[in-house]
Formats: sequence, structure tokens, C-alpha cells
Amino acid sequence: SDEADWQIGDFGDDGEGGDAVAMPTVAIVGRPNVGKSTLVNRILGRREAVVEDIPGVTRDRVSYAAVWSGRRFLVQDTGGWEPDAKGMGQAIARQAEFAMNTADAVVLVVDATVGATATDEAVARVLRRSKTPVLLAANKVDDERVESEAAALWSLGLGEPRSVSAAHGRGAGDLLDAILEVLPETPRDFGQPAGPRRVALVGKPNVGKSSLLNKLTDSDRAVVDNVAGTTVDPVDELVELGGRLWNFVDTAGLRKRVNTASGHEYYASLRTRAAIDAAEVAVLLIDASEPITEQDQRVLTMIVEAGRSLVIAFNKWDLVDEDRRLQLDKEIDRDLARVPWARRVNISASTGRSVQKLVPQLDTALDSWDKRISTGQLNGWLKDIIAGTPPPVRGGRQPKVMFATQAATRPPTFVLFTTGFLEAGYRRFLERKLREQFGFDGSPVRINVRVRE
Ligand code: GDP
Ligand code: GDP
Repeated sequence: SDEADWQIGDFGDDGEGGDAVAMPTVAIVGRPNVGKSTLVNRILGRREAVVEDIPGVTRDRVSYAAVWSGRRFLVQDTGGWEPDAKGMGQAIARQAEFAMNTADAVVLVVDATVGATATDEAVARVLRRSKTPVLLAANKVDDERVESEAAALWSLGLGEPRSVSAAHGRGAGDLLDAILEVLPETPRDFGQPAGPRRVALVGKPNVGKSSLLNKLTDSDRAVVDNVAGTTVDPVDELVELGGRLWNFVDTAGLRKRVNTASGHEYYASLRTRAAIDAAEVAVLLIDASEPITEQDQRVLTMIVEAGRSLVIAFNKWDLVDEDRRLQLDKEIDRDLARVPWARRVNISASTGRSVQKLVPQLDTALDSWDKRISTGQLNGWLKDIIAGTPPPVRGGRQPKVMFATQAATRPPTFVLFTTGFLEAGYRRFLERKLREQFGFDGSPVRINVRVRE
């Protein structure tokens, strides 16, 4: 049969701190409607129940555990996520880029009945550069008559198109065999990426973003425009801070002061989103001399939903007196309660006060964002927590948490396998405990719950 299956408890306990069950990841990418979710369900044997996410956290990438031919691996699904038509080509190219940087193998799914579209070609171009193995799945080949259309996909330059019918199962076993052939036994070690870390300076208009950029570049004189071996977009700026280079992304708008007038708010917000997407860590500037606003909150939401690490910089500290300071503390308690993990720093972009203090905070946030907890450590911790505070009984049943694994970093993403629904309060409790034990200061953490009925 083409059905993959996995068993609860099958993952075993790999003992003290080891990572014996760390599983390699296969990422499934492609345009909407080519059949990615159907393929994921096929790989999983369609035994999986609905994913429950922590409220307020967007579901963009979710990993599932699968077994084929006795080998365990994770399948990373991007199917639930649909970019709007306008930015689609770019969004999917980004998705593919992310996949090849984080997964151990990538499957590009193309709809053979439609043929290669311009978007498919753009994604294939990105994937042809990949060092990560890439397989091309020609989907919707429900019967032999469609085979010739599948063959036409050789034109994408990704090798042999593997015909499959995700909906009916035809060819799924062969595709899985091909995946396992290229998939390494253990996840690769991503380590630190080469090149300067990417930082976005974001915040509402007039909060001091361009002043801060100017201060950072002036104070260090060593503004580098052209460093051999680094690729920096013309809109980016390399800045030396704390003896290292940092890539401040998408700074063109900050320099030229374009589109900051009111009425361009829509564009300002698109620009903010693009900067956050391009960055690894976002510095959210908040005007400390004024009350925290809805607009500050909206930018914060964008950062958290994009899964970027975060440093909050309270700017214009030179204008803050004792009264304002007390007031601000109250606002922080009230308005920033959802990001208790965020690192904060008080600065003045105009005087230059404390701007160097950003560096250790950026480092902490990025370390957390990159951090991986071994499966052994994670499950050891989980066992203790659950023994101490079991999940509340619901409808007369007590859900059991069987196993947890860290499916991804950047941001750290955990998958809990359970036998029943976990209430939001209990999931928040688990996140709080997870942070107490392992840190993750400065980074959002995602916890997905997989219910095994
Ligand atoms: P996604 O947006 O890429 O995740 O695509 P879905 O998995 O949601 O599938 C999009 C549509 O294509 C759905 O109506 C599926 O039923 C259909 N579909 C998926 N796989 C196949 C297939 O192998 N053959 C046919 N005929 N339809 C399929
Ligand atoms: P942007 O729109 O976020 O890029 O903000 P700007 O950098 O243009 O700053 C908006 C205004 O706030 C300007 O008049 C700056 O001089 C002022 N400003 C920026 N940083 C500070 C600061 O730390 N202290 C004070 N007092 N004013 C500042």
C-alpha cells in the first residue's frame, strides 16, 4: 500500500540529552492548488487530525511526523498558507528559499494538468541553485493519459518529474522511495549562517528610525558599501557595530524619507512588512516620550506573526522624566504583556545615548532564534512538567502528551503529539515552562499540537 504510518510511542526515549531521534525534514513547496496539502495527507496516510495552534500565532509552516519503509522523518507543509495573487511569485520564491535553507530535502509540487506556469519557473530557478536535494513532483497524474504532460516538466531543469496522483495514491510509493533516497539519515546542522545578520529597523512614522540609522552609521565611520563575498541589496546597508558587520535591511526609505507623510500609510505598512520579512531580527522602535499606541502594537504583531526575533528600543529617552517613566512602566505591563520574552533597551537616537547597548540584545535574540533543544532534553523536561501538572480533563477524558520534538528553528517551533485537545491555558502554561527551562529570550516560540485520535 502507499500508506505511510507512524505509531504513538514508536519514537522511544533516547535517554539523557541525546538527539537520537532527531528527524530530517522534507519541505513541500509550490503554488496554491497544485495539491500540496493532499500530498502531505497522502504521505501521512491521512491519519492525522486537525492541527491546533496557539491562538494569535499564524499557521504558516507546520511539520508532521511520518514513517515510510521504517524511516522516520518530518514533513513540512506550506499548503495552508495562501499569499495574495499580487505578491505570489515573490512569496513562493521566498517560501522555496526558506525551505532549501531549513529542510533536508525539498519537493516542488507542480500541477501536471496545468503545466509549468511562470511562477513554477521562477521557483524552479531558485531551487536549481539549491545545495539541498530537490525533487520535482508532477501531481494530478491520475492515469496514464496525463503521463506525457508530466514528462513536459523536464523543462523546469529539476531532473526527472515524478508523476504522482496525491488524490488517488498513484505513484506515491515511488515518490516516497525517491524522497528517502535523497534524504539524509539525520537533519543537517545549520550552524550559524555565513555573512552579517540581517536587522530591520521598524516602528511607526517619526519614532526615530532614520535618526537611529544615521547615528549608527556616523558613530562607527566604518560604513561599508562593498564587502567582498557579501551580497547586499542596494536598499540594504552594512553597518559595523560592536566590532562586527550587520546588514540593516531595506533602509532606502529611511534614508530618502519617502512615503512617510500620512496618506501613504498603506505603503509604509507594506514596506514595514517587507523589511521584517527580509530580516532575522527586528528592532521595534517605540517613542518613550509618548503613550504606546495601536500603531506600535500593529508593528509588533507583524514581527511576532512573521516569527522574527525582536528587540524593543524605547527611543527619545532624553525626553523621559521620572513621571513619564513610571507611566511607561504601567503601559509596558498593560500593552506589551503578550511579549514578556522581548528584550528592551532605552536609547536616544539623537544624542546617541546607549545605542551601543543594542548589540548584546540583538545577539541574545538571535541566539534564541537559532537555538535547538535536543529531543532527549525536551522529552525529559516534558515528562517532569506533565507529572507535576497534567493537562486538565476535558469531556471526561484526560489528554495525554506523548512526545515532543523541535521541528524547526528560526523561530523555534515545537510539535506536541497528544491524544486529545489541549486547552489554550495549558498550552500557554507549557510555553511559560519551556521558556523558564530553556530560555528563548528575544524570540517568539511556536507550539503546534498534533492530536492523534
Ligand atoms: P494546495 O493548495 O497546493 O495545498 O492544494 P490542495 O491539496 O488543497 O489541492 C488543490 C485541489 O487539487 C483540491 O481540489 C484537490 O482535491 C485537488 N487535487 C490534489 N491532488 C490531486 C490529484 O492528484 N489529482 C486530482 N485530480 N486532483 C488533485
Ligand atoms: P522616522 O520617521 O522613524 O525615521 O523618524 P525620524 O528619525 O525622522 O525622527 C522623527 C523626529 O524625531 C525628528 O524630528 C528627530 O529629530 C526626532 N528624534 C529622533 N530620535 C530622537 C531622540 O532620541 N530624541 C529626541 N528628542 N528626538 C528624536
